[in-house]
Amino acid sequence: MPAESPLTRHRIDACFLGPYGENNNLLEKLVVEFLRDHVYWRRNFHPEDPPAISTEASRHPDYLAFESRMRRELHQLSASLKKSVPFHSPRYMGHMVSDLLMPGLIAQILTLPYNPNNVSEDSAPVTVDMEVQVGLQLARMVGYVHDPLRADCAFGHLTSGGTLANYQALRVALALKAFPVALRSAGVPDLDLPEDDWSAFNLHPHKATQLLDDWLTWLAAQPLRERKTWRQRVQQERLEYLGMLEFFTRHAQLRVPHVLAPVTAHYSWSKGLKLLGLGRSQLQLLPEQGMRLDTDALESTLEKCRRERQPVLMSVAVLGTTEYGTFDPVDGIVAARERAAALGLGHSVHVDAAWGGYLATVFRNEDGSLRSRDEVARGYHAFPAPEVHAAIAALADTDSITIDPHKLGYLPFGTGAFICRDHRVTALLSEEADYVFGGASATSYHERYRGLGQFIPEGSKSGANAAAVYVTHRVLPLDHLHFGRLTRQTLLAAESFHAGANRFADKMHGRVNAIVPFQPDSNLVCLALNPAGNTRVANANAFVHRLHDDMRADPRQPLQLKQFFGSMTTLRPEALGDTEMRRILGQLGLDVATLDGVGNGDDRLVILRHTLMNPYLIDHENGISYIDLYFDYLASRVQQLLVAHDAA
Ligand SMILES: *Cc1c(COP(=O)(O)O)cnc(C)c1O
Repeated sequence: MPAESPLTRHRIDACFLGPYGENNNLLEKLVVEFLRDHVYWRRNFHPEDPPAISTEASRHPDYLAFESRMRRELHQLSASLKKSVPFHSPRYMGHMVSDLLMPGLIAQILTLPYNPNNVSEDSAPVTVDMEVQVGLQLARMVGYVHDPLRADCAFGHLTSGGTLANYQALRVALALKAFPVALRSAGVPDLDLPEDDWSAFNLHPHKATQLLDDWLTWLAAQPLRERKTWRQRVQQERLEYLGMLEFFTRHAQLRVPHVLAPVTAHYSWSKGLKLLGLGRSQLQLLPEQGMRLDTDALESTLEKCRRERQPVLMSVAVLGTTEYGTFDPVDGIVAARERAAALGLGHSVHVDAAWGGYLATVFRNEDGSLRSRDEVARGYHAFPAPEVHAAIAALADTDSITIDPHKLGYLPFGTGAFICRDHRVTALLSEEADYVFGGASATSYHERYRGLGQFIPEGSKSGANAAAVYVTHRVLPLDHLHFGRLTRQTLLAAESFHAGANRFADKMHGRVNAIVPFQPDSNLVCLALNPAGNTRVANANAFVHRLHDDMRADPRQPLQLKQFFGSMTTLRPEALGDTEMRRILGQLGLDVATLDGVGNGDDRLVILRHTLMNPYLIDHENGISYIDLYFDYLASRVQQLLVAHDAA
């Protein structure tokens, strides 16, 4: 087991309710305390108003009947929820979810009865600002400017999840890309506008943002009446006003832009392109090399786009792929963008860090500066790969980022986050033009975001979510000495799991070939298996499917029959590259020729996938490693399946 000082461990001990509910007293004490506090708040609003519900009401048969119904239904709910997936348990290594951080859980419960609606400060005087603060906390974690006094300060807000944050990224990038074209069409004088539609549509996002800023400054200097006319004139030339069809008809030089993403991209990208009306066919999936986006392929795609005058909306880097936890070369993708922009093909770079975003905590000092790779690497076996450090360091140079507090932030569902590097672009999202296009009424950062609903894809939304994330980041600041200690546990667990997998492979030699197919970048570790002697991919896939069947949620069975929870994914030649795919199949003893592309599911290799988020996978208190127990379990299941197969 990796050495970890007791001091470090005890700090984590108060973070969660715990696998056994160890911290039940703490949770109960705080929840009851703040629930009572809420009641007193109600009574103290106008203490002179007498209670509207009679003290005798609770004896009325109708009251009692309602209470009984409520109780019965709640009991039923509680009973059925017992079939839930035990995310809290160190026996759960399935999807991207684990126990909930108590500060977030309690803040959420505490806030619910106040029911703030974060659409605007009118209905959420406290929690809207918390949401804006969360944006700044996350901006700091990724290295964006987070001082609201600076004009180019970042801005972030919460979304229902990573899917909507990715959608918001597309929306922002498109608005910024098309805006300079509208300025030209409207014939705004005095501004240094690009000479034709093509260059206006393909500016570097930094330049487009500057142009937006110049326009707002120019507008503010106009007499009041003209200001309104100009604003309207520009609004009526915008893509958002005209719609795709009319905009691209008017600008025959331009085509609907492409989005470039790795083949490993989450399906939310496909959803986003459909939702925005760009069309799924504009999503161009690029191959990977060694589990990272192939920057050569990116460069040549950009070059081809430039030659064919095909605009690009954005390049997407994934920081922690959903299936494998691997990191794309954010640095290489930013460099490719700079080169393309210099040649007239400007576009945004977005990082989908829905999963991996919080891993940045171990790379940050308390003062917000970046730690060197050597500093970060202390105490780990291999983490972080130099590529991983370089990817984190390059986050500051990207245009926007998606991060899911409800994944590695250990917070309740309903919290994704979108962060953009320079908040000025949000002026293009505002529904009420007057509000931010005011010029003279130009407002401070905090005033601007009081009407949060102006900028976000949603409307009404829970302020309790914002409170949960805010309080958690206050209790555990997003640096290596605070939140990072928790992140560190998961990375150590992943290394321990990797070592365990290698021991398992040795022990099972001759019965099953098992490998960790590629060096894990983070806390997600995969395992590929093939019964010894088998050469057919289809058989190996069937075998792994059977193993996984015992590790997945099944509401028809009592929960306790499950020993462990894991998940499953596939390795595909288009994601790995041919060389890697051959290497892996070779190591497993599989014949590459049996990987057929007919589309029956055996054009890919089925593997087990383990998300190692639970902080108690290594239980120091009792000297138990659930990782070791898992491999014992896996060994016995493999043995059973092999025997059953031989008997058949
Ligand atoms: C989970 C995930 C998403 C989608 O996030 P949701 O919160 O499920 O909407 C997007 N991208 C990546 C890389 C993810 O891991």
